[in-house]
Amino acid sequence: MIRLRIEAFTVNNVPLVKEGDDITDFLHDLDLHDGDIIVIASTIVSKAEGLIRRLESITPSERAIGIAAGLNEDPRFVEAVLGQSTEILIVKPFLLVESKFGQVCVNAGLDRSNVEEGFVLLLPDDPSQSAKQIRSRIFKRYGKNVAVIITDTCGRAFREGQTGVGIGFTGIAPMKDWRGTRDLGGKVLEITYEGAGDEIAGLANLMMGEGADGTPIVIVRGLTYEDRSCQVFRSKETDVIRKAINDANKI
Ligand code: GDP
Ligand code: MN
Ligand code: MN
Repeated sequence: MIRLRIEAFTVNNVPLVKEGDDITDFLHDLDLHDGDIIVIASTIVSKAEGLIRRLESITPSERAIGIAAGLNEDPRFVEAVLGQSTEILIVKPFLLVESKFGQVCVNAGLDRSNVEEGFVLLLPDDPSQSAKQIRSRIFKRYGKNVAVIITDTCGRAFREGQTGVGIGFTGIAPMKDWRGTRDLGGKVLEITYEGAGDEIAGLANLMMGEGADGTPIVIVRGLTYEDRSCQVFRSKETDVIRKAINDANKI
């Protein structure tokens, strides 16, 4: 007997996305269901929001030139990263920063893949806000109450390999809180606070591919989830790894 079965599929016929495109246009052939989770690669959200920048148009600051020299990197690219950052944590051997929306990641998530040569793509300023807009447009156009997750492919500390993570959520709680529930032996769980949104993002990201697949949208159907907003990024004060990096920087 099957206890749980989910369905997940990529969306066909998504064009090369341009500034001003309405992402909900790409869903019009689908028979969306209430409760579907629409997972969208940040790349196309950024393209639709016009967040593409021509490297030639960027004048690097002294600081960007200095950091770029240590990285053997294009100073204009570094300048673009600094423009999206609120704090720099590591400058070598890669540029680890906090992005405008609070995610600590390499190069503030700026991409040079899946964009034309000579251009960089910024992440949305507020991906959860972008997700909200898409969700409410889906409701207006198709009358379906869905959840939206915006993903990016990110490297991870301590582990090889990049995976998909959620950078914007709406209509779904990014965390599944097991605390206070019991395990098989009746013991109360005290710590387990599962990053369920990232697990969904990981599945969808795997299906999207990273190259020329052209499948930036995945629909996940059949999961039950809560709709609650919760903090995704650790706060500066409680993040001990971040503290350790800052302490090491002071030495
Ligand atoms: P990221 O993980 O958000 O940085 O996005 P990726 O660059 O890894 O791309 C994820 C998926 O979206 C891959 O299947 C890409 O081929 C696809 N993709 C990226 N840009 C576009 C686009 O403008 N149109 C279409 N159809 N697919 C795109
Ligand atoms: Mn990316
Ligand atoms: Mn990717």
